[in-house]
Amino acid sequence: MELPRTTTTAPLGRRAFAARGLGALAGLTAAVALTSVTAAPAARAKGQAGAAAQGNWRFCTKCYVMFFWGFSDDGHCAAGGAHTQAGYNFVLPHDVPETGNAQANWRFCSKCYGLFFFGYPSGGWCPTGGSHYAAGYNFVIPHDVAETPSAQAYWRFCTTCYVMFFWGYPEKGRCPNGNGHNAAGFNFVIPHT
Ligand SMILES: [Zn+2]
Ligand SMILES: [Zn+2]
Ligand SMILES: [Zn+2]
Repeated sequence: MELPRTTTTAPLGRRAFAARGLGALAGLTAAVALTSVTAAPAARAKGQAGAAAQGNWRFCTKCYVMFFWGFSDDGHCAAGGAHTQAGYNFVLPHDVPETGNAQANWRFCSKCYGLFFFGYPSGGWCPTGGSHYAAGYNFVIPHDVAETPSAQAYWRFCTTCYVMFFWGYPEKGRCPNGNGHNAAGFNFVIPHT
């Protein structure tokens, strides 16, 4: 069965990005205008920041990475073939300020469709060969906050291939070197619907 897909929020969409930028700007102008007549600008600003997020990110049951499921194909899995999605529909905040509990520089790889950390000089190790290739939004991922019914913990950075992978199972998925991923750093807690 062909499942419905959306391409309007594709991370490669430059036009979509520009439109979102304009929307945020328009919202900001409105908020500034409202500030003069209301006493709650902070609440409004928070709501706008929450709106900058992209859905259709999924867990891959074969390699355990977080990958983008919004295209007609499902990228390239380190376990062979395309990724296979299951579970929650994750919604990743992007282009918002980095904080003590949210790390920036997480990007979509246009070669394997995985979410990987682009904050080091090297772009990690892509299952298609070479480094991951960053495109689209700059995702800012929450970490070391409480897990809730709408945010899942135990997502981690892999020091070998630089992807975001789910660490909550005894098995640690599949890295391009054929072994499991190797976790380090923050305990990411990722929002989902
Ligand atoms: Zn996979
Ligand atoms: Zn890649
Ligand atoms: Zn890995």
